[in-house]
Amino acid sequence: MLNIVLFGPPGAGKGTQAERLIEKFGLVHLSTGDIFRFNIKNATELGKLAKSYIDKGALVPDEVTIAMLKDTVEKNPEAKGFIFDGFPRTTAQAEALDTFLAEKNTSISRMLALEVNEEELVKRLLERGKVSGRADDADVSIIQNRISVYNKETSVVKDYYENQNKYTGINGIGNIGEITQALCDAIEQLA
Ligand code: AMP
Repeated sequence: MLNIVLFGPPGAGKGTQAERLIEKFGLVHLSTGDIFRFNIKNATELGKLAKSYIDKGALVPDEVTIAMLKDTVEKNPEAKGFIFDGFPRTTAQAEALDTFLAEKNTSISRMLALEVNEEELVKRLLERGKVSGRADDADVSIIQNRISVYNKETSVVKDYYENQNKYTGINGIGNIGEITQALCDAIEQLA
């Protein structure tokens, strides 16, 4: 299986690039943010719980997120592999993912990280907020909070994969197609 963690701060372009990569490599796109938003839209219990965190720009608790992630992987038994987008966001999530994949006799192939500076992230998220309808994209203080949560809780996940020699950084600024190409080149090296 080809299991990629597509990593990066909010606004780095993970969702956009994941959509392009799944087509090329026939993988399943698993975005925890998208699954939460689906649940919010459908007013499920999970959605109600997640909304209280997402609207503030905080992380949804690990046990809730990990259970949802496992459930989604289980629902895709035929998958050739996954692109994990927005997960793992804490070291505890990364450890849980490793344990879970090991039980399935598979593992993470590589973390590909989109590197984008903070000024550009804020600019992109405010632009996206005009069309995404996402409350967490519309307010600059919530955006700042998401970036600070990333810096405090999520950026360390890079070290977790670096320690396993599985980290590749990709410049996430510039032409979307060229960034896709850089990601594809990195994935092709894994084959
Ligand atoms: P995203 O669409 O990846 O930007 O995620 C939107 C929001 O969903 C985040 O700001 C978090 O509140 C929540 N979320 C998504 N993925 C996770 C995760 N792996 N752990 C905790 N919260 C998450």
